[in-house]
Amino acid sequence: MADTTILIVEDEPAIVELVSFTLKAAGWNTVAVGSTGEAWEFIQRRTPQLILLDWMLPDQSGLRLLSKIRSDRQFNEIPVIMLTAKSMEEDKIAGLDHGADDYVTKPFSPRELTARVKALLRRKAPEHSQTALTAGPVILDPVSCTVRIHDQKVEIGHAEYKLLKFFMAHPERVFSRSQLLDKVWGDHVVIEERTVDVHVLRLRKVLKNAENLIRTVRSVGYMLSEKP
Ligand code: CA
Repeated sequence: MADTTILIVEDEPAIVELVSFTLKAAGWNTVAVGSTGEAWEFIQRRTPQLILLDWMLPDQSGLRLLSKIRSDRQFNEIPVIMLTAKSMEEDKIAGLDHGADDYVTKPFSPRELTARVKALLRRKAPEHSQTALTAGPVILDPVSCTVRIHDQKVEIGHAEYKLLKFFMAHPERVFSRSQLLDKVWGDHVVIEERTVDVHVLRLRKVLKNAENLIRTVRSVGYMLSEKP
């Protein structure tokens, strides 16, 4: 969970404070910026897992930033919730047309905001939601950051934990080494692709007799599969 960063793009300090407090209380990291320019700069340095984007910002409208994100190959999948005082039906449609995943109208309740963020993360980035993941005898609890196999807690390194969490969130899907580096280690980290093999090897050791959950797909990469 400490790896889930939500970027808040909002220029009203009172709202930034409320939103930051609410999201931190739910267990996410937050970073707040007050303009689309700062937001774009941040996204390029460190891709957030979700963006809460205000509509009316001092330099440009939030919609412009949304269009920029959605037309960028590297960032177009970042989940975005528009945060705005506008409640007109046509504005909601404009936001959704520009690629917003959801819409929260000010004033909103902290509980509603948390529920929306949780639902969107579960839908778009299940490895960042707080629901326990299961695969065969393996249960991963993102809240306590623990892994149990046949109900026995196991020792697992940080990188192996993140890798396992990602695999469990996307079962039966093959990922290349470079995709795993992007998704698990982050877009901007420079690591050799061989590093992935090392961590997969360590992960299999941790999984012991459940190690065949992690399959090598020759000349493509790896996947988690429960199929025999
Ligand atoms: Ca504003």
